[in-house]
Amino acid sequence: MAQPIETYRELLADIDRYGRVLRERFATEMVCRLGCIGCCQQHLSLFAIEAENLRLYISDLSANLKTYLRSQALATMEREKMLAANPPPPSTEFPPPPESSVPCPALVDGACAVYKARPVICRTHGFPLLYLEEETSEALLEVCPLNFTEAQETLENLMEEDVFHMHSINERLVRINLAFMAQAQDDALSGAARTSIATIILSATEAT
Ligand code: SF4
Repeated sequence: MAQPIETYRELLADIDRYGRVLRERFATEMVCRLGCIGCCQQHLSLFAIEAENLRLYISDLSANLKTYLRSQALATMEREKMLAANPPPPSTEFPPPPESSVPCPALVDGACAVYKARPVICRTHGFPLLYLEEETSEALLEVCPLNFTEAQETLENLMEEDVFHMHSINERLVRINLAFMAQAQDDALSGAARTSIATIILSATEAT
């Protein structure tokens, strides 16, 4: 039987495969590109299986990059403490203003240093995403405010095959995560429901 980490990587590969189809279909409507880091101005927490996949990837990076990521992770934690003590005024801007944002600690020179192991949320962000409201099962469409800006009509006429069905993806992710947690009870990261990216970096760079 396949290990949860392999099943998780199959999920990532399926997302990438469908992402390539959508990217081609919406080549003019989507402006996602290397260097656009609006969606990286937040510090995410991940399920145990995603934390483990990221930890394994970071463990194999060069010593220099690990040292750099470690210093960023520590700075991110400090920044979060500072913002908790002095909360900025609420903002609905996208990307969030610098005074209230907490950039992802894996961002290096305006690019993701862990791109190949980025979690599901980062892999799907930017595409049209269909969610089901938990209580009412009402369908909710989400898309990055920077994409489809000149294509309101396209957005309004999306078909089933034009979106990522996030309820199915998330159900699959939860199942894989449960299998991983059942199997890896002794693992430090699998004990937590969710682990922040800064904590994952610190765990992966302990010996650095
Ligand atoms: S999802 Fe939005 S913020 Fe992120 S890369 Fe795409 S356009 Fe930029």
